[in-house]
Amino acid sequence: APAEDSPAEKPGMIARAMGRADAPRRVMDDAMLERLEELLITADMGVSTALKVTANMAEGRYGRKVTSEDVKGFLAQEVTKILEPVARPMPIYPKKPQVVLVVGVNGSGKTTTIGKLASQFRAAGKSVVIAAGDTFRAAAVEQLQVWGERAGVPVMTAPEGSDPASLAFEAMTRAEAEGADLLMIDTAGRLQNRADLMEELAKIVRVIRKKDPDAPHNTLLVLDATTGQNALGQVEIFQKVADVSGLVMTKLDGTAKGGVLVALADRFGLPIHAIGVGEQIDDLSPFDPDEFAKALTG
Ligand code: GDP
Repeated sequence: APAEDSPAEKPGMIARAMGRADAPRRVMDDAMLERLEELLITADMGVSTALKVTANMAEGRYGRKVTSEDVKGFLAQEVTKILEPVARPMPIYPKKPQVVLVVGVNGSGKTTTIGKLASQFRAAGKSVVIAAGDTFRAAAVEQLQVWGERAGVPVMTAPEGSDPASLAFEAMTRAEAEGADLLMIDTAGRLQNRADLMEELAKIVRVIRKKDPDAPHNTLLVLDATTGQNALGQVEIFQKVADVSGLVMTKLDGTAKGGVLVALADRFGLPIHAIGVGEQIDDLSPFDPDEFAKALTG
């Protein structure tokens, strides 16, 4: 066989999508591009981002013969181009306390992410206070207390059903008095009544701004990768109720395909600070666009 038809390639997803079983090098034509689009959509990238990625990939290459390894590399490159500008760790300011408001729907992984972040900040020598702002869910408060213990960080709580804003205010007072570097505030994530959610978050923000007009310094939206394209809708909702400054995507260790991160980056351009890759305290990784793109297209 000619060198260009080397059988060294493994027939992975892309190879199958290219229909390369019969010929390792194939002309990049409409049929191939359509199959690649389908593949990216199946990986949760969404239609418009999948179309954009394949179109950019095909530029200057359309009509040429390519191997599946070539295509993998080209696609990874295009995905990296979208992801690179948004891959940024959560900024740390020389502000005491730096107030981090954490929002997201219930079950997305807010509590877990707060615990993991608190542990990372502690390891970096920062002092942290956590406020259990979802005062309506006793289980959430208990969970957060468990995470606080694991991370070695105090968790401020209030009686069930009490006003999250007054808890936030007290937590702010304590964090200031103790000279804490960071105050992380958990919030409720009930989407059933958006007006209530909006009012509750607005009140928390109003109250902490009495102490520091620049607070919250970060508003992290936690998204669950297994919800696929629903994550896009959640960003839209939370951008309406809070001034979202960055994203954390959880549960990327499971069955989630992860393409939704590319769609999010493409559509909103919000910084992606970290990704959750498990249920343990160390299972929060910096977001590495190159590695992510390769895994996605591999
Ligand atoms: P909250 O309601 O938003 O506070 O969500 P929780 O933090 O309680 O998380 C909901 C569930 O998701 C829990 O069972 C967590 O253990 C799990 N979880 C959170 N983050 C991750 C992750 O990155 N990977 C996996 N596999 N599970 C996670």
